Amino acid sequence: MSAIEDLVAELARLPTIGRKSATRLTYHLLKQPPEQSKRLALALTALTERVRTCERCYNLTEEELCDLCRDSARDVALLCVVEEASDISAIERSGEYRGVYHVLGGRLSPLDGVGPNQLRVSELVARVAEGGVREVIVATSLKLEGEATALYVQEQLAPGGVTVSRIARGIPVGGDLEYADGVTIAQAMVARREMQ
Ligand code: ZN
Repeated sequence: MSAIEDLVAELARLPTIGRKSATRLTYHLLKQPPEQSKRLALALTALTERVRTCERCYNLTEEELCDLCRDSARDVALLCVVEEASDISAIERSGEYRGVYHVLGGRLSPLDGVGPNQLRVSELVARVAEGGVREVIVATSLKLEGEATALYVQEQLAPGGVTVSRIARGIPVGGDLEYADGVTIAQAMVARREMQ
C-alpha cells in the first residue's frame, strides 16, 4: 500500500469518518507544511504512550490517579457510575455534580459479546464494599442496553445495602450523555430516583 492509501485506510476506520472524508483529510495534510503532520503524529504517539486508566475510577489520566480522584474537594460518598470516560466530561460540563466516578467500560450488549464480565462491575462492588459511599448514581445511557446495565449494577449492589439511584429521563433521543447539553444533564442528575 502507498503512504497515501495507508493514511486514508487508517482515518476511514475512525467513527463518523467515511472513505471520502478520509481522502479529503489526507490530501489536506499533504498541502500543509510537513510540520503539521509531524505534530499530529507526535500527538498520536503521546496519546498511546502516556494516557492510561485511573487505578481507582478508570477515568483516563496520565497519573496513577485521575484529577478528580486526587481532588480533595470532591464528595467521595457520592459515586456516579458511567459507561465511558467520555461521559465524565459530559457530566462535569453540567457543573452540577461534586462527587466521584466509576467507569464501567461499556454497557451490556449480548449481541456485541459484551456480558457482565467485560464490564468493571465487580470492581465497583468491591469499591463500595470498602465503605464510605452513601449513594451510587447510575448514569448509564437511557437506551435499552443502558437500562439493562443499570438494573444489573443495582442487583449487584443491592446486598451491600447502599442507596442506588438512576438519573431521570430528559436526556434527548438516543439517550447518550455525550450528546446532551449541560443543563439537561444537570436536570437529569437533580431529578434522579432511587432504584427499588
Ligand atoms: Zn479516578
